[in-house]
Amino acid sequence: MPEMLVQLKDGSAIRGSSVLSTIAPKEAVALLQPSISRSEEALFARTVPIKAACLDLVMDGMPRPKVTFAMGADSPWYFSNHSASASLTDNPRHAVVHAMKYGRPGEQSDSGQDERELSAFMDLIQPGWRAHVIKRRFMPSLLVAHDFAEATRGGYTGRAACVVSGWPGLFIAGDWVGGEGSLLNASLASAKQAAEKILASPYFEQRQVK
Ligand SMILES: Cc1cc2nc3c(=O)[nH]c(=O)nc-3n(C[C@H](O)[C@H](O)[C@H](O)COP(=O)(O)OP(=O)(O)OC[C@H]3O[C@@H](n4cnc5c(N)ncnc54)[C@H](O)[C@@H]3O)c2cc1C
Repeated sequence: MPEMLVQLKDGSAIRGSSVLSTIAPKEAVALLQPSISRSEEALFARTVPIKAACLDLVMDGMPRPKVTFAMGADSPWYFSNHSASASLTDNPRHAVVHAMKYGRPGEQSDSGQDERELSAFMDLIQPGWRAHVIKRRFMPSLLVAHDFAEATRGGYTGRAACVVSGWPGLFIAGDWVGGEGSLLNASLASAKQAAEKILASPYFEQRQVK
């Protein structure tokens, strides 16, 4: 039976026969002892994170309230008025909106340029928006996904599997794992698959948690 030990920050440790890791690929490689096999490590290491510049706004009204969603056709821009479909503020007239620019995978972005571009995008779809801003937050580089299914790396089937070969008892899940879906769909699909593998493992022992 595999013996796994998870060392926590406070010094305590958890022992078990199976561990499901959901952290980022490169962070997992750095934490795992002993190291995973070279072929597995190569799969983890070749992942390319996708980042985005995000402009979050709280507005006291929208110049064009009917425009609740927009995507750039020739630029990687996204806009969504989340208050159009969810109650996010005490004042029903206020709106929480997001504008986002996807970065090129693996490339360093220019935060000043991205912020100017997002403001110009807002000018295009919500002219006069600046007069309505109650709160503004710009986050220049937010992690969107740990990887994407690139054709030259085998697409979905080129991603790491939820069972880590050469290390019985170790399973992984995340948006960079498994042959199904993208983003959150991939996280949930790989988590479900990993959980099923753990439950089917001969070492799995059901314990009552009190
Ligand atoms: C602005 C934005 C909008 C998005 N919109 C959508 C959308 O509309 N639809 C969609 O499907 N997806 C969307 N995504 C992408 C989606 O959020 C991700 O694909 C998804 O969250 C990935 O989940 P994950 O569990 O693989 O990784 P994460 O959500 O990154 O979770 C990994 C977790 O591991 C933790 N961690 C790291 N290291 C350690 C450690 N050493 N010990 C303990 N914990 C650790 C991290 O803190 C983190 O909480 C969006 C992302 C962003 C940023």
